[in-house]
Amino acid sequence: MSAFIIYQVLVLLIFNMYAVNSHPKRIGEESYVLYSRDDWGAKPPTDVEPLKTPVPYVVIHHTYIPEACNTTEQCMATMRSMQNYHNSLDWGDIGYNFCVGSEGGAYEGRGWHTIGIHAGPANSFSIGICLIGDWRVEQPPEEMLKTTKALIKTGVVNGVISPDYKLKGHSQIMSTECPGTALQNIISKWDHFSEGTKFNKPQI
Ligand SMILES: [Zn+2]
Repeated sequence: MSAFIIYQVLVLLIFNMYAVNSHPKRIGEESYVLYSRDDWGAKPPTDVEPLKTPVPYVVIHHTYIPEACNTTEQCMATMRSMQNYHNSLDWGDIGYNFCVGSEGGAYEGRGWHTIGIHAGPANSFSIGICLIGDWRVEQPPEEMLKTTKALIKTGVVNGVISPDYKLKGHSQIMSTECPGTALQNIISKWDHFSEGTKFNKPQI
């Protein structure tokens, strides 16, 4: 094989790696990278009930366990381990609609159009976003918070999240420590945050 052909093959390989593993998204001023299920090696789901959109709620979670992931490789491994764990509970897929890593990557879980398993009565009316890590005391990194906000904005712009959505932490819907006190304090200052534990089941 000539050096030129080897060069061409290498260029193609590198291009494909980039094309497969990186999906940059720009939403207004913000940009983030979204990794698809194929990118992180998701198993095919068996629970695929369609989500009626636009949803009126966004529910924020942390994982507590697994711990925070700081590289794309680590976060992809975390996604696979969470899917395995949730499958073992008979959930038929990873529970969350999306997850976000400390490095600022967004990871597709069930995505925008499938009902998740993350917040009991709110599952059918919300997008569940999980910030991977334990955010009871430690503050989530800025990159992670920026991506979470940009992801919500993407949902609104794409008509999947209602423009007048309400933002809640998991513990405002169910009895849990999730999303951790530190993270809950942060989201309570975000636009659309909805105080209290009241959850109105929308009429649909
Ligand atoms: Zn939660």
